[in-house]
Amino acid sequence: MGRFYRIGNGRARLSPMSDTIFSKIIAGEIPCHKVYEDDLVLAFLDIFPLSPGHTLVIPKEPAKTVDVLSDESSAAIGRVLPRIARAVMAATGATQYNILQNNGPRAHQAVFHVHFHIIPKMEDGSGLGVEWKPGALDNEQAAALAARISEAVGG
Ligand code: 5GP
Repeated sequence: MGRFYRIGNGRARLSPMSDTIFSKIIAGEIPCHKVYEDDLVLAFLDIFPLSPGHTLVIPKEPAKTVDVLSDESSAAIGRVLPRIARAVMAATGATQYNILQNNGPRAHQAVFHVHFHIIPKMEDGSGLGVEWKPGALDNEQAAALAARISEAVGG
């Protein structure tokens, strides 16, 4: 469902809304362990961490998935994500980490408000476990698929 809302400098935008626990955290109705905030972005510790320092970086814009996030919020997240990752590493002593971003319930999304997980991968093995079953890339199919995606991307 599309609705108008306001972000940043106050301009109205149309976007699919998500009314989730993260909206309440942004509004200050539910507490969080905040690590970063600016006009467009909030970052806080995950309540069920996979490893110490597991952090969620979210846009204040209530978009459900990344494909419907505005360019403005996307840029704002991109600007601070490396800085927050460095801070998480500095604070935890971790040297390796995953950034995870789930879209849709089959893709393991449980909270329908865009969020990027920063998950330190510790020497004891704690952190994100990844099940990765690689297939094979057929040249002909890949060329057709790449052409379709390229056309859809535009720009
Ligand atoms: P997803 O599976 O949607 O990518 O991840 C959602 C994340 O949000 C989970 O890791 C979960 O622990 C975290 N989470 C859910 N509810 C809360 C909450 O109320 N506070 C905080 N800090 N994290 C939450």
